Amino acid sequence: MIEFKDVSLTYPNGHQGLKNVNLKIEQGEMIVVVGLSGAGKSTLIRSINQLVKPTSGELMVDGKNSLAFNERDLRKMRTDIGMIFQSYNLVRRMSVLRNVLSGALGRTSTARSIFGLFKHEDKQLALRSLDRVGIAEKAYSRADQLSGGQQQRVSIARALTQKTKVFLADEPVASLDPPTSHIVMKDLRKINREDNITMIVNLHFIDMAMEYADRIIGMRNGEVVFDGPASEVTEKT
Ligand code: ADP
Ligand code: ADP
Repeated sequence: MIEFKDVSLTYPNGHQGLKNVNLKIEQGEMIVVVGLSGAGKSTLIRSINQLVKPTSGELMVDGKNSLAFNERDLRKMRTDIGMIFQSYNLVRRMSVLRNVLSGALGRTSTARSIFGLFKHEDKQLALRSLDRVGIAEKAYSRADQLSGGQQQRVSIARALTQKTKVFLADEPVASLDPPTSHIVMKDLRKINREDNITMIVNLHFIDMAMEYADRIIGMRNGEVVFDGPASEVTEKT
């Protein structure tokens, strides 16, 4: 469903972020990308929805080369992919529920979204999503009143409300303490299992990667240097 064919990415300053990456990712996989800081993990994840754009190769999404997409195709693709960031990217002064509902914006008519009107079923979905990550009781709190771990769970609920098949999570636990990191990783893992959502997650810690991933992709200097089941990691590295 997502396939990198010889994908390279050179930043405007000449730095090569990705070098000849070849990967095939199937629906429902739980993938963790590991590597040292600067290895290209972020670049790999962000290239999937073209927050950064590869400079050569083909990046197939649902059978189509997304590098040839026009603006409209790109917008559509981005609403089909949930994105989870290290810094949560919530609107701080808005309620938790409003933040979660914003995940439905890509599926809402422009007229409705301008007035912040949401369908009843989207509100129900947003509340259910909050419940699934264990923070339903925070729905009417202001986003910035929540702890970091709770805010990250809000951003997961927002991605769920997008009704997507793929989540990209770029260092989702890098700002959290270890116990909270495990709560967030468990939520992602549970959603992966229950909804068959493809998850591609960047992590700094290999032990956590081995605990939650089915498949681990190791990167170094923009290249994929390991790609295999989590169980094989100890033997090969
Ligand atoms: P991380 O290691 O957590 O991915 P970085 O500190 O490397 O974060 O990057 C933070 C932001 O700065 C990103 O948006 C990244 O694209 C950008 N960035 C990183 N390195 C450079 C660079 N050499 N030149 C310009 N922008 C950069
Ligand atoms: P990681 O996520 O593994 O820390 P990144 O994908 O953020 O790595 O970065 C890979 C390399 O690309 C790093 O050397 C970083 O400095 C560089 N880089 C990232 N973003 C930019 C940018 N916007 N411009 C130039 N170089 C960048």
